[in-house]
Amino acid sequence: MTFCLRYRFSLIAAYLLLSVCSGKAQLPLRPDAFPPSESSASTGKALLMADDSASMADWMHYPTYEHYVAMMQRFERRHPALCRLDTIGTSVNGRLILCVRLSDDNAATVAEKPQVFYSAAIHGDELVGFHLMLHLIDTLLQAYGVSPQITALLASTEVYINPLANPDGTYYGGNGTVGLSRRYNARGVDLNRNYPDPFAATAKNIEPENQAMIDYVSVHRFRLSANLHSGSEVMNYPWDSFTSAQRSHPDADWWVAVSKRFVDTCRRESPAMFTDVVNSGYIAGGDWYVITGGRQDYMNYCHDMLEMTMELSSVKKVASGDLPRYWRSQRQALINYLCEVHALPVAAGVCSSVAGRGSWRAYPNPTRGPVTVETDGRAVLLDLSGHPAGIHLLRVDGRWVRVIKL
Ligand SMILES: [Zn+2]
Repeated sequence: MTFCLRYRFSLIAAYLLLSVCSGKAQLPLRPDAFPPSESSASTGKALLMADDSASMADWMHYPTYEHYVAMMQRFERRHPALCRLDTIGTSVNGRLILCVRLSDDNAATVAEKPQVFYSAAIHGDELVGFHLMLHLIDTLLQAYGVSPQITALLASTEVYINPLANPDGTYYGGNGTVGLSRRYNARGVDLNRNYPDPFAATAKNIEPENQAMIDYVSVHRFRLSANLHSGSEVMNYPWDSFTSAQRSHPDADWWVAVSKRFVDTCRRESPAMFTDVVNSGYIAGGDWYVITGGRQDYMNYCHDMLEMTMELSSVKKVASGDLPRYWRSQRQALINYLCEVHALPVAAGVCSSVAGRGSWRAYPNPTRGPVTVETDGRAVLLDLSGHPAGIHLLRVDGRWVRVIKL
């Protein structure tokens, strides 16, 4: 009910369709990076820990906090031409929120490389995404120059990966174990309910982990991202704040197509995956259950990026011996999703009372109809004459541009 009222009283007006195409080529979505599947032994429900690279080598352990930091540093040290380590910020208890940027800056296959972003374990006890992201970073670095797909990806794309968004939750039991990991941050806050709610009138106190993430996203130009969770297996696309009957995302058809490709790719290895919520394996978030304060809706609504929530394992604390199984099933889909940044939807528009960001200029603004939008030196003339008064957020060349129609 609250949402209905807010929806009615906000300046939401109309959906606009734009056809401003960036004209970029799509990368191949073909598997070519991996040898035939290897087998792995089960370790029951154990959450085995590794505190050095020798123990981590089989990818059947979780790293201690210190070894996680050491792994991130070593990625950069061993691959200085491809990998740069960033610190997004620090947690309540001072642990590092790290991110690697993977790209070959000497390869210039496109004029401006799009930026794509993975972030995992905002819920500290949802461990599989954390592990998968470390394995993915390692694989992208090792396979560069070997796999045609990965070579093309890092030559044409800036890939950002934050394996651990809530380190205090994951290492709640201490730096040496993930066995006592929990959902919340050190203050007991669910970080995926703590983002600014773009549809609410009241502000909230943003936790340090989330404020750091907001600041980081604000100085980048991520176009596509995913927030990795577990507890179910389903691709959850925007919006979380509404059912699709109340309000569907303007790019819903594209989200369905991307989700289906992800699920189908995983099912080639593990046919039963992504069936525990819906048989299709994908759903509009609010049709599963409505939440507010989630990161996904905030990123879609307040930043010029498309973000979805990937729920990657029915079990939250996946036994360390089962980790290779998830990696085998999902690695190719995770790589393919990064490539999707080169084939984003080009006809979309939502309405917003929240300012966008980025380097753009629209004039006249407010307008009674015609408006020229400039992004990165490119000017596009649009006409809002046939649309109702209010604030419109237009997507032009992948950016959200805020225009007021009188
Ligand atoms: Zn979660």
